[in-house]
Amino acid sequence: MKKYIISSVLILGSSCGFAKTIYTGDRIDGVPVITHLDVNDLAAGKKYRFMFKGSEMNIGQSWYTPVIVVKGNNSGKNLLINTGIHGDELNGAFALQKVMKSLSPDKVSGAVVGVFQASPNSLMHISRNWYMATDSGEYENMNRIFPGKQNGNTAQVQAYKLWNDLWKGNAQYVIDLHTQSTDTNYPLMVYADYRVPSAQQMAELIPADQIKKDPGEKGSVETTFIEAGIPAITVEIGKGREYQPEYVGRTVTGINNIMISLGIIKGSITQTAKTQGAFIGNDMTSVRASTGGYAEVLVSVGDNVKKDQLIAIQSNPFGDLIKEYKSPVDGKVLSTGSGATREAGGLLVRILQQNPDVKCNNGC
Ligand SMILES: [Zn+2]
Repeated sequence: MKKYIISSVLILGSSCGFAKTIYTGDRIDGVPVITHLDVNDLAAGKKYRFMFKGSEMNIGQSWYTPVIVVKGNNSGKNLLINTGIHGDELNGAFALQKVMKSLSPDKVSGAVVGVFQASPNSLMHISRNWYMATDSGEYENMNRIFPGKQNGNTAQVQAYKLWNDLWKGNAQYVIDLHTQSTDTNYPLMVYADYRVPSAQQMAELIPADQIKKDPGEKGSVETTFIEAGIPAITVEIGKGREYQPEYVGRTVTGINNIMISLGIIKGSITQTAKTQGAFIGNDMTSVRASTGGYAEVLVSVGDNVKKDQLIAIQSNPFGDLIKEYKSPVDGKVLSTGSGATREAGGLLVRILQQNPDVKCNNGC
């Protein structure tokens, strides 16, 4: 009985709102600033813009993350679409802008939350990492530190605020938009945890070129949501730094498909991973430079490669061949390094493959 009373109070607490949307009263470029978002608290049938107040810089001012919420006329599911975790990965911003622009609250059931610049610090530096000014400068990969720390460094605090005050209570399904890093290429590809049926369904609704069945990365946005019982996928949209309209267009189609399948919008699903002929692999192998030098990658994204096929060479500053790299497996080229110089550890070629080991059925 005692237990029953406690759980009743907790349910009452969450539905009656200890966590309503909190407005600071400030506006930035005319947009209201919030420190906490609760989509349940917003009036239905409207499209909202917010600036979410994140962690503070060394100069005592704050980082802000632009957010659009489309709260439908009718009740339904809540979808969170995030981008800008890595600051040199920009195709996701274009895809999200197009999706949010297309949504009209009177044609939406449920809510769609679009988060545009999750790591404004990293975006400002056009860098994979969040840069911290303290102690001669330090870096943090934001996609390895969720759910963050309340009393951590700037990046950890930003992660904590994103997780607790912007994302978690507002998401039943999550799409996190990325690209490959600077000087490396992906096609349109999806990392998805195939142990979670809804994650598999979302992945295969994207007309991707390749899908990796993936057990996830600790501390990433996707895996932290999966661990919290919320289906999530990571969509990788081509290469870093550039705008690639064809990949962006297919990403928008895929997100629309997911919204249709969740009943958020009406429409028909046409182009999917299946119609695109996506290659779905359960394992991948990265061939990395073992020394420094000028790199020639001899294969392209999407090529089929055979074990022992020559896939890259490296030369020294005089032009002498110093290293040959062969594919260790049969598979399909998922990623290539496009930077002309590579140092030890730099990616040359990543190959997506079908590992026959039963342990890899849902991804290794
Ligand atoms: Zn990324």
